[in-house]
Amino acid sequence: MLYISTRGDPARKHFCEILLEGLAPDGGLYLPGHYPKVDAATLEKWRALAYHELAFEILSLYIDDIPAADLREICRKTYTEEVFGTRQIAPLKELDEGIFLLGLSNGPTLAFKDMAMQLLGNLFEYELARRGEELNILGATSGDTGSAAEYAMKGKKGVRVFMTSPHGRMSPFQQAQMFSLPDANIHNLAIEGVFDDCQDIVKAVSNDLAFKRKYRIGTVNSINWARLVAQVVYYFAGYLQSGARVVSFAVPSGNFGNICAGHVARMMGLPIQRLVLATNENDVLDEFFRTGVYRVRGSADTYETSSPSMDISKASNFERFIFDLLGRDGARVKQLFGEELARNGRFALAEKVAEARDTYGFASGSSTHADRLATIRDTHRRFGVTIDTHTADGLKVARQHMQAGVPMIVLETALPIKFAETIVEALGHEPERPAKFRGIEDLPKRVTVLPADTSKVKDFIAAHCA
Ligand SMILES: *Cc1c(COP(=O)(O)O)cnc(C)c1O
Repeated sequence: MLYISTRGDPARKHFCEILLEGLAPDGGLYLPGHYPKVDAATLEKWRALAYHELAFEILSLYIDDIPAADLREICRKTYTEEVFGTRQIAPLKELDEGIFLLGLSNGPTLAFKDMAMQLLGNLFEYELARRGEELNILGATSGDTGSAAEYAMKGKKGVRVFMTSPHGRMSPFQQAQMFSLPDANIHNLAIEGVFDDCQDIVKAVSNDLAFKRKYRIGTVNSINWARLVAQVVYYFAGYLQSGARVVSFAVPSGNFGNICAGHVARMMGLPIQRLVLATNENDVLDEFFRTGVYRVRGSADTYETSSPSMDISKASNFERFIFDLLGRDGARVKQLFGEELARNGRFALAEKVAEARDTYGFASGSSTHADRLATIRDTHRRFGVTIDTHTADGLKVARQHMQAGVPMIVLETALPIKFAETIVEALGHEPERPAKFRGIEDLPKRVTVLPADTSKVKDFIAAHCA
């Protein structure tokens, strides 16, 4: 399998070449040159597989530069009951008639990002050892991504993590999750500023090519294809567990990474009727699927909500879907994302809305704080299940797109304990806390507070790359 850029660059690359890269050199995102098709007989054979075996079968369609035995072993050691809490890894449970929850949040940091990031950690360690190289991962987080990256990379040979976060702005639970890690290759940098300051610093460091090369700076953000393809696996796992002939999925969405994996699964032939995209008040994507207008928001129109991992002003993976929607016309994508967005902050594809719906199966909706509270309350009262705020957005929108005879699988993207404040607001009591997280707020914290100053962050990195 060879990978291409969404902006038409003629270069063709193998999986391990793009594994440690971010954007393609022309500013586009990498996608496979085609989507391998999985027929009904193969799908039936896969029904009997354990999750790690299913992961191997799917990943091996996309990775031809890691020997099969090695890839099989990487999948086996990633998707274990010990790390993900259940034998199924992504267990499906019925909530209501025809509505299911796919449990993706039982990994080390209690959010679905572990599903991909844990694999990425093992792939990075493998590939860096093979090349005899090291990598210093620099990231910015307001919560879920940073902790998932740290728990995936902790103790890995050849990798260091420098994770910036806005000082004092993450929840006590999220701070404790990250700052209590004792591993020497993990560095927490609390920046005196907001999340945008952290992102600006990461960008500034990455734009200093001499520094980037000298200190081998890399990232693990959601545009990484390896993360995306790892997420394709649980769409298959959810479908196979349902036993249905065809299903729909509802996906709480921010940067369009998770649901893009659903799009890939559908392109591979997985019988998905609808891909229901749910946003919170930051409804950039819902607006696109309703009107065909993609309009990036300014910071004044980007809201802080109670489902904060979906608080986006633009969706960094969206370009991948638009590339497919435009018949893989890289020149057109380059014009829209490279030029029109930069000039106008928006583009319009109104003539493509029907195709996105009818050919690609997309539907969408948005959810508000009041909707989240009502959905959390209703789900708790009727089924005795406490869901998190993001999953609540997904469930609320899922209910608007039910079709007779088609099970709806809602992706559970985090556990409620991560967003306890809103659960208390909805239910009047704290959500249950898994045993291994009791008392983490009291553990010693390893964090360095720095001003929002790129040179200070560079100094810190230089001093800690022995
Ligand atoms: C990251 C995240 C999302 C959004 O996923 P995207 O891939 O960015 O669309 C939703 N819910 C939770 C809990 C997350 O951490």
